[in-house]
Amino acid sequence: MNRALRKTVIAGNWKMNKTPSEAVELINAIKAELAGKKTDGCEIVACVPYVDLVPVIEAAKGSPIKVGAENVHFAASGAYTGEISAAMLCEIGTEYVIVGHSERRQYFGETDNTVSARLTAALAAGLKVILCVGETLEQRELGVTAETVSAQTKIALSGITAEQLKNVIIAYEPVWAIGTGKTATADQADEVCGIIRGVIASLYGESSADGITVQYGGSMNAKNAAELLGKPNVDGGLIGGASLKAPDFAAIIAAANA
Ligand code: PEP
Repeated sequence: MNRALRKTVIAGNWKMNKTPSEAVELINAIKAELAGKKTDGCEIVACVPYVDLVPVIEAAKGSPIKVGAENVHFAASGAYTGEISAAMLCEIGTEYVIVGHSERRQYFGETDNTVSARLTAALAAGLKVILCVGETLEQRELGVTAETVSAQTKIALSGITAEQLKNVIIAYEPVWAIGTGKTATADQADEVCGIIRGVIASLYGESSADGITVQYGGSMNAKNAAELLGKPNVDGGLIGGASLKAPDFAAIIAAANA
């Protein structure tokens, strides 16, 4: 395993928070926090609600912050009232998109197959994808964490080539740790990120496994980030709550740049 071959990515997931004007305020606050600090040790991404994309992309210009969406539809276009396509996201300058977040799986009927279809559509359009996988508390207690994240990863990536995989980040997000204040221990996070890397090795070979960024997400914050990011298989974080507070998000970025 060679960690130098992959990049650390710190991504915020704002969820359904911040109106467009509030979103610009938050980006400006994050920019102010980052000014004069070392940031080139990681890629920084803010994944924001659809209506915030245009103003946030504009506000982030000239800063190290890249901008992503929180979901994308799997069809290129058509009769899907209320949905947003990958081409629409690309045309306004969106670089990243989250697919398969557990809140989408839990509340909006997302399945491994629809996650796979969204991921395929996003990559085809030129977006970089943050693919979320993770077990529920029940699955962890039943001892099927490895099987769960392996199946989610394999199904999501079906039909994806090694070349396309270069635009995929995987976020290991134990469902029981999201928005609950319960963080996986650094060892638990490292273990499951390592299992996911092993799945990539089995599907694509060692060099793809060495190159892929595997983040941890689930109540990562300014206090626990350094320990989590210090683990060899944890290449960054997907951060919900703490990404809405500029000083906290900046502290996590600082931990990734230490
Ligand atoms: C998330 O939404 O992806 C997440 C990890 O949320 P939180 O950091 O609030 O647990």
